[in-house]
Amino acid sequence: MTTILVVEDEEVVRETLAYNLQQEGYAVLTTGDGSESLKVVREQRPDLIVLDIMLPGMDGLSVCRALRRDKEIAYIPIIMLTARGTQGDKMVGLDSGADDYITKPFGLGEFLARIRAVLRRADGQSTSSREVRTGDITADLMSRRVHRGNQEVQLSQKEFDLLVELMRNQGAVLSRDLILTRVWGYDFCGDSRTVDVHVRWLREKLEDDPSNPQHIITVRGVGYRFEAAE
Ligand code: CA
Repeated sequence: MTTILVVEDEEVVRETLAYNLQQEGYAVLTTGDGSESLKVVREQRPDLIVLDIMLPGMDGLSVCRALRRDKEIAYIPIIMLTARGTQGDKMVGLDSGADDYITKPFGLGEFLARIRAVLRRADGQSTSSREVRTGDITADLMSRRVHRGNQEVQLSQKEFDLLVELMRNQGAVLSRDLILTRVWGYDFCGDSRTVDVHVRWLREKLEDDPSNPQHIITVRGVGYRFEAAE
């Protein structure tokens, strides 16, 4: 059974979300406290965490960062609830390592759709973990070889890791900081230009016309998005 942890201090919101998730057939854990949520995650290992950004004491962003720093539980997807719809909030959410965010107030239909989308993405990663495929590009995770059609593409280790990260999140915008964290690790000392340089190299190897990329798309002021080109 799929278990979802809802972390939200406003009781009405928390109970409403919990009730509707249960109606959808999910098992639901709830807490209104940030530090308590870390304990629950470590002990219960939910499949997904819905995390409000505004919490008393330890706020949602700090919880998110703490979860991502803990290797044992860093794989669990997080959907952040943000209070306002400003670009700043969204960026802060993605930079802290959230998989998705949803802005209050939101409809239940949208909320449940996001839940399903994030769970589907996470499931795809664990069940078909040998290979990541999108469009005509295939990355074999065991041999760490990449093919475009029948043609093998030679990539460095970091180019490979970067490509897989982008492909796994096809269609979603990844910020440079998030890419740095996931591909280079938290203790990496370089800056986000490292990402740009590797994207350039990847494009030279993968794109028909590197100056007009169809796969690795620049999202100005934010980061990159992978698309399976036609
Ligand atoms: Ca709250």
